[in-house]
Amino acid sequence: MSDMERDNCYMRRCFDLARLGLGQVSPNPPVGAVLVYEDQIIGEGYHRRWGAPHAEVEAVASVPEHLRHLIPKATLYVSLEPCCVYGRTPPCTNLILDQGIKRVVVSCLDQSPEVAGRGVALLRAGGVEVRTGVLEDEGRWLVRFRSKWATTGMPWVILKFARTRDGFMGLPERQVWISNPLTLRLVHRWRSELDAIMVATNTALIDNPRLTTRLWPGRSPVRVVLDRRGRLPEKLHLFDGTVPTWVVTEQPARFRGLPVAPIELGFDAPDFAYQLLKELGARRITSLLVEGGSALLHYLIRENCWDEARVFTGNKVLGTGVPAPEVHGRLMDEIHIGDNLLTLWANQVTIHVKQG
Ligand SMILES: [Zn+2]
Repeated sequence: MSDMERDNCYMRRCFDLARLGLGQVSPNPPVGAVLVYEDQIIGEGYHRRWGAPHAEVEAVASVPEHLRHLIPKATLYVSLEPCCVYGRTPPCTNLILDQGIKRVVVSCLDQSPEVAGRGVALLRAGGVEVRTGVLEDEGRWLVRFRSKWATTGMPWVILKFARTRDGFMGLPERQVWISNPLTLRLVHRWRSELDAIMVATNTALIDNPRLTTRLWPGRSPVRVVLDRRGRLPEKLHLFDGTVPTWVVTEQPARFRGLPVAPIELGFDAPDFAYQLLKELGARRITSLLVEGGSALLHYLIRENCWDEARVFTGNKVLGTGVPAPEVHGRLMDEIHIGDNLLTLWANQVTIHVKQG
């Protein structure tokens, strides 16, 4: 193995570890770390949940007693630049210097304004050899929710919808089944990984969705429902009090006594989408899954208030109905899941978050 292949290989292990924290660490980013001595992993760890030790701390702590003397001679691989500020835990740059680790390999820099290269600079000033940019695109993609939130105060917005083969989302006033058991489970997995999920009034009325995570282990996202005039009936699943639920409305008084928190916003404001995302960001929502309906999806696309789209195309042909939105972005992947094709898109305008 060349040095580059070796670095890539251990960085991939960091990514795998980091992903185990998805959905638990927000608003922190998922991070994984591996300690390697002469091609042996002597320790590894990841950030498990918000408030828990960082990946670097976990990796160092995991080294068994009889190998601890190797730590200063080992290379530390981390999927994100080590932090250098006192948060709920002391900075990881201190840990690395205190442990006498001489070589650190990092995938991408932390775009949070309080770090932004200072972690690497501190290590170098302390005599540590630091290599950055290993599988950098993948590393950036992994922390995209945090990067966007930390730099803009707004969540990363993921549009999700299903369309028929001829481009319709469904029929007016009626739900049309496009998904299959596997895609349903996948959507529940996404819910477990994201901070919030949003639907508009008609979707809440017609589908009466729960929007909870049931077909996958993990927590449910905060539910956000738009109800401008406060016309949603109390008996909807969204108002069952099982999960924190926020109603964006011009009629907050209407929701008094219901287990929901109203967010009062004027829907006619020209920058309504921006205000809404800012408000969610202020409530520490770093990622938002938008599940419909069609008008809301069209609106967010028109306002360029989206970062990623996950589109299922089923085999059904309707001939007529509610047209699905057209997504124009960078095609990231196409995956066949049973009778559905999942297409993953990234917004090329907001993708600066990924490409730095
Ligand atoms: Zn740290």
